Amino acid sequence: MEMSFTDFFFALLSLSLLYIAWLWARELRRGKKNSWQISRSQLFHCNNCHWAFVPKEPVSLCRCPRCNTVCIRRRNNLSPAPESVEKK
Ligand SMILES: [Zn+2]
Repeated sequence: MEMSFTDFFFALLSLSLLYIAWLWARELRRGKKNSWQISRSQLFHCNNCHWAFVPKEPVSLCRCPRCNTVCIRRRNNLSPAPESVEKK
């Protein structure tokens, strides 16, 4: 079978594209499997050091593991409330 230069590079390009598509599909499948299962309501956000964390128990009040400030879970974690948090 005689193969021209153009045919060879076209075949190489096609195989490369197929390989990239396969890697992409594999990565998408893997990413979906390992995605975060935490809901936003469980996430705490420290107003003092801006550390985001998830406590071991589902509580509404706990201490920040980084700076030990008392953190209160709010309905909307996206906008931190302006009032200051009690400091130890
Ligand atoms: Zn903190």
